Amino acid sequence: MKLEELYNYCNKCKKCDLYKTRNHMVFGQGNPDSKIMFIGEGPGKQEDLSGNVFVGAAGKLLDKMLTAIDLKRDDIYIANIIKCRPPQNRDPLVEEREACLDYLREQVRIINPKIIVCLGRISAITIMDSNMKITKEHGKWMKKGKFWMIATFHPAALLYDDSKKKDSWEDLKKIKEKLNEVD
Ligand code: URA
Ligand code: SF4
Repeated sequence: MKLEELYNYCNKCKKCDLYKTRNHMVFGQGNPDSKIMFIGEGPGKQEDLSGNVFVGAAGKLLDKMLTAIDLKRDDIYIANIIKCRPPQNRDPLVEEREACLDYLREQVRIINPKIIVCLGRISAITIMDSNMKITKEHGKWMKKGKFWMIATFHPAALLYDDSKKKDSWEDLKKIKEKLNEVD
């Protein structure tokens, strides 16, 4: 399948109840030839209104994090665990995550990155390890199939807790090193 075809499937999707309240399905964006994919949690208000990924306050911080390691949005691809916004930004339910995961799997298959960065707990427990404790296990590489995977703090978490910024920076440096290695 091609990325546009997958987009069209997702745009019509009614596999979970989130389609009832969405304004836009938020597919993901960036460079489809990138070696690195970032996976967030799900659309927030601004993303739902615009259809674009990571455009709200967390997105602005994500841009700064990327700049710190010399990356631009065009250098990476970003998607989320779920493609439609949960009402009031509640955590996506297990059944919603399961319903949406096939799309993300196909998206990863098409983009075929070398590195996958999970942003935040929901992303990490859904695609790395269901027991992952992000406070302890962020910044640790895991090889899963042919992918190098790592979890780090979600930018929204950094907005609320400055004390995580130092650890976040260490993780970002590791991500940059690995990207240079696989390049
Ligand atoms: N938070 C996410 O996890 N994803 C987005 O697209 C926006 C905010
Ligand atoms: Fe479909 Fe995913 Fe949207 Fe649910 S969140 S309706 S599974 S695209």
